[in-house]
Amino acid sequence: MKRRRRPQVPAPPLGRVASHFTREGTPKNAYRTQAEAASAAQLAWTLHGVDLNTYRCDYCYQWHIGKQFRDD
Ligand SMILES: [Zn+2]
Repeated sequence: MKRRRRPQVPAPPLGRVASHFTREGTPKNAYRTQAEAASAAQLAWTLHGVDLNTYRCDYCYQWHIGKQFRDD
């Protein structure tokens, strides 16, 4: 069964821009400094036991936390 048209969903970001977006296509929280991102990652570890990386984003030039986005 073929669909003629897809609903207007934003295309999933590709390449390094993917680091700026969640899998749902919404922008991630951005932190202005690596220290802020690191403390957010630490909090996530404390609260949820998830090990997150901090990384500088090539898209917005701020910092995000997340799992390695290649794992998505
Ligand atoms: Zn970004």
